[in-house]
Amino acid sequence: MDKTKSIQSKVWFHNARSDAKRNRLDKLAELIAEAGLVSKISRGDLVAIKLHWGEPGNVGHLPPPYIRPLIEAVRAVGGKPFLTDTNTLYTGLRRNAVDHVQAAAMNGFSLTTLGVPVVVADGLKGFDGRDVPLAGGGTVKIASAILDADAMLVFTHVKGHMLFAYGGALKNLGMGCTTPAGKQFLHSDLRPVVQAKHCTGCGDCIQRCPTACIALSGEEGSTQRVARIDKARCIGCGECTATCPHGAIPIRWASSPDLIQTKTAECALAALAGKQDKVGFVNCMINLTPDCDCCDWNDPPFMADVGFLASTDPVAVDVASADLVAAGKPIPGSVADGGPADPWRAIVDIDYRVIFAHGEKIGLGRQDYGLVKL
Ligand code: SF4
Ligand code: SF4
Repeated sequence: MDKTKSIQSKVWFHNARSDAKRNRLDKLAELIAEAGLVSKISRGDLVAIKLHWGEPGNVGHLPPPYIRPLIEAVRAVGGKPFLTDTNTLYTGLRRNAVDHVQAAAMNGFSLTTLGVPVVVADGLKGFDGRDVPLAGGGTVKIASAILDADAMLVFTHVKGHMLFAYGGALKNLGMGCTTPAGKQFLHSDLRPVVQAKHCTGCGDCIQRCPTACIALSGEEGSTQRVARIDKARCIGCGECTATCPHGAIPIRWASSPDLIQTKTAECALAALAGKQDKVGFVNCMINLTPDCDCCDWNDPPFMADVGFLASTDPVAVDVASADLVAAGKPIPGSVADGGPADPWRAIVDIDYRVIFAHGEKIGLGRQDYGLVKL
């Protein structure tokens, strides 16, 4: 028998309720202290606070004040916090560090508003990364500022995701700490195909495609023009699938939806290389929107605010977060209303727990957790 499976990881939890005596930021501060997230941080440590400040246009991302308790906790032990994320693979305002820092400020994350620097971890154009070995073989490019930081605290807005169904700490770590080359490696199994019968020829996907590999064309004798993808130049970023207002580009995989999950778990482990126990994870289960904050829009939340979780185990904190939603009831009229019993599967009907199982298999953390309710 594998004895490690009987050992639980602790996950601390505060619900989202608050009153005049204790607001949500008080609860977050208590959670961070109880979980011991900054206990290993030494005076002078450069502490990466990895988060996703959202694409401009998305207003479902975490509001900036939620990050203050973590910044204050790091400062209280003498650490030097900075907010960080990496450049994207797709078009938008986070594809290079100049646009990216401006995008962060537009969404309220800046030195002026929060008193900490914003550092784009993979440099001006996303080339500043180093190869780190993956558990399953090969290497991935992890952003240099992530690797060079003395400690890392991963602050995650839990929400849905069109490729993963559940988007939590492992996604924030695994996808969010790679350079664009690493992200391309993660997406390489994605094979979008346009369903001509649903395409109206609006051209929205063409505007968003980073490799300009989509064009409109029509059959001879027909006035209808539909989008077509040049597969040789497609990098599988998924931007067209997320963009199409008519659902004409469904997600398709060369193999299965499991592969991006197992690869992301391996990249998450790579992102933590060299940090030993100087890592911690906070999952914020508020504004539970169906789509990633990478989208420049946001559908209304599908579940009422749940609360906050913290742990030093990224697998356990994600399993606990996923379970809280899986056991809940969707908001009437939301995208999950009337869908599968597990609301995550209303976002995309896949086995989204593959990433947890693989994370455990490679030693990233444990799926078995004990929830400590504060
Ligand atoms: S966005 Fe959708 S409907 Fe518009 S051209 Fe592209 S595939 Fe067709
Ligand atoms: S066609 Fe390929 S490269 Fe272009 S947006 Fe879609 S997935 Fe990305």
